[in-house]
Parts: sequence; C-alpha cells; structure tokens
Amino acid sequence: MMHKDLLFTSPKGKTILFDDFVWEEAGETWHDERSVWCCLCRSCHKKYGKILGSRCHGDGQSLCSVDGCMNNADYYVDFLTTDNLKIVEVEDDE
Ligand SMILES: [Zn+2]
Repeated sequence: MMHKDLLFTSPKGKTILFDDFVWEEAGETWHDERSVWCCLCRSCHKKYGKILGSRCHGDGQSLCSVDGCMNNADYYVDFLTTDNLKIVEVEDDE
C-alpha cells in the first residue's frame, strides 16, 4: 500500500516529512490562496521548531503530523504560500 506524505524543504535545505496534512486549494475556503497546514507535538516542536520558525502556532489539536509520530499535538503549522512543499508517495511500513 502507498500513502501520500507531505515533504517540506526549508530555505536552508532541511527537510521534514509529514504523514498527515490538510491541503486546501484556492477557492475551497475563505483563503484566497493555497493553504496547507498540519499539527505538531511538543517533542517534534523541540526538534523542528527552529526550522519551521514563525509557521508554528499554539493550540494544535488531534495527533502530531510528523511521519511516524503518534503524540498528541500541541501546535499547528501554517505553511506559507511561498514554501517548498511536495506531495510524495510513500510505501507503508508493514
Ligand atoms: Zn510529533
């Protein structure tokens, strides 16, 4: 089985893989432009907070979106329209 992940590449070339994300195309919401967001737990925020910077906001809900992480989320990440985001197909671990 394959599933779709979201690959974020920072301006400095650091990458983070998310296995859960919301991708809203322009016109689907009140946003004028594409909107992509996902959730982050405390420990992933410690790990990736510096890379994500001001994209992180408090009050995340449900589960952390980082690939392989099942912690409850404490933050959410609002990506910028200028961010380098790619949807990649990944094989599920058995
Ligand atoms: Zn996490």
